[in-house]
Amino acid sequence: MLLKDKVAIVTGAAEGIGAGVAEVFAEQGARVYLGDIAKEAVEARAASIRGKGAQAFGHLMDVTRTDQVQAVVSAAMDRYGRIDILINNAGIYPRQPFLEMTEQQWDQMQDVNAKSMFRTCRAVTPHMVAQRSGHIVNISSVTFFLGTVNLVHYVASKGAVVGFSRSLARELGTHNIHVNCITPGAIETFGEAAIGVTQEQINEMIGMQTLKRRLHPKDIANVCLFLSSELSSGMTGQTLNVDAGWVMH
Ligand code: NAP
Repeated sequence: MLLKDKVAIVTGAAEGIGAGVAEVFAEQGARVYLGDIAKEAVEARAASIRGKGAQAFGHLMDVTRTDQVQAVVSAAMDRYGRIDILINNAGIYPRQPFLEMTEQQWDQMQDVNAKSMFRTCRAVTPHMVAQRSGHIVNISSVTFFLGTVNLVHYVASKGAVVGFSRSLARELGTHNIHVNCITPGAIETFGEAAIGVTQEQINEMIGMQTLKRRLHPKDIANVCLFLSSELSSGMTGQTLNVDAGWVMH
């Protein structure tokens, strides 16, 4: 088991990539705190993981709410006295043409996708500094490399995630804290279905991929596992692109 007895917090863990990460981490022996804005769904996800014999706790955790972020950090510290891993996954991606975009839509995107990482990292890292160890993985997007129409606010927020990860890695490396980033390609999730991605669009994306199959949350979860375990002990400040060979750099 790669994460035996490690304590992990995963944001946006009720569905999609975050749920996949929580499941893989629990299988690898971690005690997992699942946070999400969808309270009942995240509690149900944690209960299903507990049903398989792992330790998992579902919490209401809107990443735009400092008090809710702090409450989950306190719960983990009170129970286990440490936090080893933080996966910053919660994110939204509603489409909006730039010419119709409001300041409120721009601000909400930055708040959920980028400023959230300030909140979670600011709450968790003092404990990691005290432990002299920690792994943080921030979820960005392949769209940062591509640029995408109707997602200017989203792609800007995901670029911020890459810059945030690099600078935080530089600043916290002396405390043995690893900060890395993943840029997922097109992943089959609840969120993708909710924005109405059509089969035609999916076929187009697979056409641009080198590997001709759909990617699933587990494809991202396994790379989160690598970046959260000793297997990546020599890495920090990096951005790993997991997109079935869509963009190569
Ligand atoms: P998803 O299926 O929509 O799951 C995301 C979860 O986060 C949902 O349970 C959602 O709740 C929750 N959430 C939304 N706002 C939140 C908030 N303020 N605080 C806490 N939780 C919140 O999304 P996904 O496709 O797995 O995406 C996860 C991450 O990967 C995002 O950062 C996304 O940008 C990134 N990503 C995804 C893809 C892809 O193709 N799927 C590609 C590149 C990057 P609700 O359902 O109630 O809103």
